[in-house]
Amino acid sequence: MTATSALALLRFDGDRTIGHDLVDPASPVLSALDLAATRGDGVFETISVGHGHPQAFEAHLARFVRSAAKLDLPEPDVDVWRAAVLAVAAVIGPVPEAFVKTVLSRGIEGGSSPTGWAYGAVAPDHTAARTRGVHAILLDRGFRSDAGAAAPWLLVGAKTLSYGINRAAAREAAKRGADDVVFVSTDGLLLEGPTANVVILRDGRLLTPPLDAGILPGTTQADLFDWAPSRGLEPLYQPLRPRDLLDADAAWLLSSVRHAAPINAVDHAPLTMDRELTDAMNDFLSARTA
Ligand code: PLP
Repeated sequence: MTATSALALLRFDGDRTIGHDLVDPASPVLSALDLAATRGDGVFETISVGHGHPQAFEAHLARFVRSAAKLDLPEPDVDVWRAAVLAVAAVIGPVPEAFVKTVLSRGIEGGSSPTGWAYGAVAPDHTAARTRGVHAILLDRGFRSDAGAAAPWLLVGAKTLSYGINRAAAREAAKRGADDVVFVSTDGLLLEGPTANVVILRDGRLLTPPLDAGILPGTTQADLFDWAPSRGLEPLYQPLRPRDLLDADAAWLLSSVRHAAPINAVDHAPLTMDRELTDAMNDFLSARTA
């Protein structure tokens, strides 16, 4: 039997992840004392699932482990988490587009084990963003591009549950009549969106900021860079400035689930969209089976 959503709760023995149980996705599972809820103290991944196949699966699991390490959380056992994600995806069945979100928190305050779950559902319809594009605004992120190394407690590059700032940026975009955001560092470099990486096309090259420049290394961007040469495009990591985005031949925000959303305007100035390349990107991203 398939369903539109599914939930697996992870079982722990102290710090060790030992298994999972599928439960009713509507059941109340989180304690009011869980640090996920009270402090945003945990990490997560959102994995797109195409026709039943989790996409960039190993890259997501590896990033989950890296994020947990940055927060000094117990190391997630990837075999147990992999099994939980597959069990959730199996309940949803081979629909064209679904997602599974894995969450690991520090658990109940004062407790001895973390809390973890994998929740999956049929994905929202992102056709409009993929075809009409998104209007992005540039917003100051408030720290330098080297903040990751200079101030590791900012947890730059970890996918933490503390997304209040990212959500506030999205609301700021809506207030300004836009759809999304590209953050800029205080030293004037393009970083990423609140939930996506930025990639620009210039003279047959696909460019994205270096992965150590205060951003989350994206699984979607990485897969797209592997695919780029098959389209005759050279993928390059390079520091980029707002001018590079404004002068780009085309640009995209890339993320799991929404995939490639072409940027149709930056701060109300129109940007050219490459429809054929966007469709090819999204065909490739949607068809991934691993
Ligand atoms: N950057 C941030 C801050 C994100 O939250 C995300 C995804 O949610 C990404 C980049 C894109 O990562 P991925 O392609 O692995 O989904």
